[in-house]
Amino acid sequence: MGKALVIGCGGVASVAIHKCVQNSQVFEEICIASRTKSKCDALKAQLDGGKTKITTAQVDANNVDELIALINEVKPDIVMNLALPYQDLTIMDACLATKTHYMDTANYEPEDTAKFEYKWQWDYRERFEKAGITALLGSGFDPGVTGVFSAYALKHYFDEIEYIDILDCNGGDHGYPFATNFNPEINIREVSANGRYWENGEWIETKPMEIKREYNFAEVGQKDMYLLYHEELESLAVNMPGLKRIRFFMTFGQSYLTHLRALENVGMTSIEPIEFEGKQIIPLQFLKAVLPDPASLGPRTVGKTNIGCIFQGKKDGKDKTYYVYNVCDHQACYREVGSQAISYTTGVPAMIGAAMVLTGKWNKPGVYNVEEFDPDPFMEELNKWGLPWVEDFNPVLVDDGQEARKQ
Ligand code: NDP
Repeated sequence: MGKALVIGCGGVASVAIHKCVQNSQVFEEICIASRTKSKCDALKAQLDGGKTKITTAQVDANNVDELIALINEVKPDIVMNLALPYQDLTIMDACLATKTHYMDTANYEPEDTAKFEYKWQWDYRERFEKAGITALLGSGFDPGVTGVFSAYALKHYFDEIEYIDILDCNGGDHGYPFATNFNPEINIREVSANGRYWENGEWIETKPMEIKREYNFAEVGQKDMYLLYHEELESLAVNMPGLKRIRFFMTFGQSYLTHLRALENVGMTSIEPIEFEGKQIIPLQFLKAVLPDPASLGPRTVGKTNIGCIFQGKKDGKDKTYYVYNVCDHQACYREVGSQAISYTTGVPAMIGAAMVLTGKWNKPGVYNVEEFDPDPFMEELNKWGLPWVEDFNPVLVDDGQEARKQ
């Protein structure tokens, strides 16, 4: 049916590519292009032999001309941006120049400022409309599936959704005192930033990790979780009519938080360049170099993730609550595709999002977040490709039984 150009060959891309190859009816051909071509070649060698034709290429995705030349050579129907958030705009520019559909899993973030927002990518709306191509933003798990869950809840169960709590729980244990489950630089930038949530039309800012709750997650157990800002809050606050509040919580263990605090205190998480032995280095990038590679965590991570959304709102004038979540087992993911669940839960929806565009189910010119499309075909594919979801119509709410404790 179609051809995809995948940019990036890290943890998320590797899972997405495994899944594209499993879904060869849709992905007849893929080109894997990244900064380090040897990684693309190694993955191709592992996956070759099936129905999907695989080629590889080297590309610097910060360079629009290089990207345009590659797209003109490969002639893909869609570019799957699975590199880093820093490359979103250059890849979108190249897609515009070549009139090629675009998708990604994380919104743009300038490399020198720890600030991510959709503003920059939403500014491309008119240009994508005029070019007659689709840009699908944030098709990972969160953002991604969390937006699809929201659209599904609104379509099938509510007249109006008033409150959304997104709960991201990783009950996995990799045995290291400190490591991050995906790109350490992106992960640490996200969790060391101030928290923020949206209530009654306003953003309310908190100190990092200021708001803590406990929650008993199905198949994982009781965990501490902390309020963070997460990018889907921005788009869902706009796209869910009548919403009064939306928050995002992520679980962290005490060891992770203690290490993070110490690293912050000594300046290792800073993105300000410093002079070291005659060379400019960025402490956070140096830290990334000494931490375990997230791709190496797969074989040693045991336990499960549980990510989902709790909705409260009204149906036929009555109060209603609904919780929809996915549980994913780290070791089962590793056995299937050689990665832990964090990459798996992002890579599978990335493949599904690209398939939605390629099959024409989610194909309209412009720039869209996932919740702006019909959720039903995407929800079906989640069950089919390894991320089945569970519904609970009487969930425990985040604030039930606990005081609004502040640390
Ligand atoms: P990795 O660091 O494992 O992989 C990034 C890949 O991008 C690497 O292959 C890297 O190349 C490549 N790359 C980086 N810069 C360039 C460049 N200038 N040109 C070409 N290739 C480049 O990251 P992850 O796989 O963990 O994350 C990928 C994306 O997924 C990120 O944007 C992340 O924010 C997002 N994400 C989204 C989630 C969601 O639920 N929505 C959850 C987790 C991640 P090299 O091998 O040479 O380093």
